[in-house]
Amino acid sequence: MSVFIDENLEQDDAGLVSCRHCSARVGVAADPLRDARVRESAPRTAGPSVRAEASNFTDREVVFRQAFCPECLTLLQAEIVPADEPSFRIRSLKLVGA
Ligand SMILES: [Zn+2]
Repeated sequence: MSVFIDENLEQDDAGLVSCRHCSARVGVAADPLRDARVRESAPRTAGPSVRAEASNFTDREVVFRQAFCPECLTLLQAEIVPADEPSFRIRSLKLVGA
């Protein structure tokens, strides 16, 4: 039985997290995006709604961080965060097929 994490990720009985589009492994339960490809760029690359300079609000470097499936390059997560911090996003799990 797999556990539905979100529209792009699922977890198997062994705790491995895979892409739901191509079945590539992208992580484990404790770190679901451990093996994802990560790209960091300027926050403005997130789109036209990001207009303010981060330096107006903080002295820290801020980045637009995207995580992609290593095989099919589906975007799995996107966030604007301080560059020196790991992701604090969490996911709640829902059992499917139970
Ligand atoms: Zn994939």
